Amino acid sequence: MTDNQIMSLDLVEVLIPIPLMEKFSYLPPKNNSKLLKQGSRVLVPFGKRTLVGVVWSFSERDKSSNRKYKYIKEILDEVPLLDSNSISLAEWSSRYYHYPLGEIISYFFPPSLRKGKEAKFRETKYLELTSKGFFLEEETLTRAPSQQKLISILKDKKEMTLKSAQAFGISNAAVNGLIEKGFVNRFSRELSPYKKLENKQLSSPKQLNPEQNKAVNAIKKAKDKNITYLLDGITGSGKTEVYLQAIQEIVNEGKQALILIPEIGLAPQAEERFREYFGDRVMSFHSAKNEREKVDAWLGASRGLVDIIIGTRSSVFLPMKNLGIIVVDEEHDLSFKQMEKFRYSARDMALYRAKLEKIPVVLASATPSLETLKNVKEEKYEVLKLNKRATGANLPTYHAVDLKGKELHEGLSKELLEATQTELDKGNQVLIFLNRRGYAPSMICKACGWISNCDRCDALMTVHKNPLKLHCHHCEAQKPYPSKCPSCGSDDFLTYGFGTERVEEFLRGHFPDTKTLRIDSDSTRKKESLNEYFDEIKKGEPIILLGTQLLAKGHHFPNVTLVGIIDADSGLFSADFRGSERVAQLMTQVAGRAGRDKKPGRVILQSYCLDHPQIEEIITGSYEKFAKKLLEERKSYKIPPFSFQAKIFAESPKSLVSRDFILKLLNQSKIEKQISSNVRIVGPLPSIMEKKSGVYRWELSIFSSSRSNLHKFLDVMQSRLYEPKLTKQVRWSIDVDPLSSI
Ligand code: ADP
Ligand code: ZN
Ligand code: ZN
Repeated sequence: MTDNQIMSLDLVEVLIPIPLMEKFSYLPPKNNSKLLKQGSRVLVPFGKRTLVGVVWSFSERDKSSNRKYKYIKEILDEVPLLDSNSISLAEWSSRYYHYPLGEIISYFFPPSLRKGKEAKFRETKYLELTSKGFFLEEETLTRAPSQQKLISILKDKKEMTLKSAQAFGISNAAVNGLIEKGFVNRFSRELSPYKKLENKQLSSPKQLNPEQNKAVNAIKKAKDKNITYLLDGITGSGKTEVYLQAIQEIVNEGKQALILIPEIGLAPQAEERFREYFGDRVMSFHSAKNEREKVDAWLGASRGLVDIIIGTRSSVFLPMKNLGIIVVDEEHDLSFKQMEKFRYSARDMALYRAKLEKIPVVLASATPSLETLKNVKEEKYEVLKLNKRATGANLPTYHAVDLKGKELHEGLSKELLEATQTELDKGNQVLIFLNRRGYAPSMICKACGWISNCDRCDALMTVHKNPLKLHCHHCEAQKPYPSKCPSCGSDDFLTYGFGTERVEEFLRGHFPDTKTLRIDSDSTRKKESLNEYFDEIKKGEPIILLGTQLLAKGHHFPNVTLVGIIDADSGLFSADFRGSERVAQLMTQVAGRAGRDKKPGRVILQSYCLDHPQIEEIITGSYEKFAKKLLEERKSYKIPPFSFQAKIFAESPKSLVSRDFILKLLNQSKIEKQISSNVRIVGPLPSIMEKKSGVYRWELSIFSSSRSNLHKFLDVMQSRLYEPKLTKQVRWSIDVDPLSSI
């Protein structure tokens, strides 16, 4: 049925938030005061419970069957909360990611709307005169001066909030008296936190360089068309400036822009830049917002009260009144992929959403993913290149330090320490990169060789000093720091390796007159702390920034002139075929923090394996060249992006149970010859970290050159996976386009 309104009183298909693939049929409510429309929330009986569901479709009742149906209890929304594009997006993602539609739909609503609360801004109580009150002679109230005052204000102002009546000294009793007598009416009205368009003086756009100009013009031309652009520009080439200016024209036509960013930490910086051009009609949306803020943002987007929405992964589900463009900034970033439950990629969902809405998408990155580069090569995407830094600066120069046989100070070479001193003396800032938090990644008993294994994972527990404890970074288990060896009782320990806490301790001692800011997920746990650090950096005074990948992404630190990469070798020997792509992206991004403004930048890279081809490529500084080589490699092995991949995971408290589950699933599923001849199955194999959080994980990898065959294969698997008999002892999941294997 195309019309989204019910035509005849037949059945209503309702989507219910439970982990099953089906919809449930109900009869329209008995007392039908509101119209039943697709996309509205309803209350329905489900077993003994009452659940909030969403009206999905209408169907005709099979007259020959005498099956009984229950009635919808209540219609919650007069105006549907989801439009047909959101509904199509949900349906597509359920099929594509093989995940229950009922669960996916909850991603489209903030928590309070999921629970059935009204889709409204905060309400305020107002007072107004009734017509009886309007004709009331004020003199009749001389014995009640405050009631007289209220009537006279209302005659003048038509309405006022209950709060301001109180501020005028009018008591609740006086107000209630007038209400009871029928002179005054009390009503509620929503109070939108968004302002009307204001005439604020906004910054005038920067003069663009020719490359930027070309890119802006290309994107502007695409409005109302579904074209995907790759904005491929080196770090600091002014990509943000390009999409800001392209969006300006789209917003001037009354449309909205959705900007997806990889990290909450980048939101304040992006919000600030957008506000310079767009004033107050800019809003951010992410997990650190409270319940009220989330509903307000959701309503602002869906009612068209904000023009620009900047958000992390889950913002791709926000309803938008009139979406005109989507930007995915740092499109290569792993955090666009959810790694649990509904394993969607926000980038890929954005691409599909743009197709539905017939609007352009801009994927921006200095280190595009291989998937995207392949699509460019096949001319599915149009590439816009920015080869120069916007400020006229050059890309940083690289200096490699060979660590073989070198004496190190908590991992830092003499060269790096001296260079740091030189830059600080010149009044510059230095960024030291180490992608490992905590004090030391392990602890060993010197007497007996006991080592700080995690009981629940195939991993070591990290030593943390502040506060002192052992902490597993994989399952979050924590233990007190042992005063004696649990195995032999000795107290002679070796804390082995180094993390950011340890390097911080050393740097503070070595550079006592300079502030060292450690920025990792431990030091930024408090809501506002990351912003405080950024404010400190912005002051521009010489400091040392020591951090993990949190510091590598997208930030613009104009005074950083030196980047030190302490351990370029970590990640070189990954068991994951995507490992080298990740390392190259991360290194290029970290290096890209140096010399972004007027002063030239340099990068010191420490390594034990300078002759490793990957280190060589990084030093020559061309991600593009390296990516090309990687693509050729992937092509010859027929691995993604040159084939499509999915995984099925099984986990249980017993290793063999997880393995046997997958074997049984495979053996007992009847897969057509034509499909099975087109898919390649690898496994079941134990995951790279088999034991994690106390369960044993096995996985099956499925590759195919045909997307549709891959999906057909998964459909068969999926129908088996929902058989309760088979799945009693294991937890399973399906991952389409998996990105990581840890
Ligand atoms: P990217 O997003 O590619 O990393 P940005 O857009 O953040 O780059 O630009 C880097 C710096 O250069 C910013 O400080 C920005 O304000 C500045 N910038 C960008 N474009 C121009 C321009 N055309 N003229 C002058 N400065 C620019
Ligand atoms: Zn011991
Ligand atoms: Zn653990």
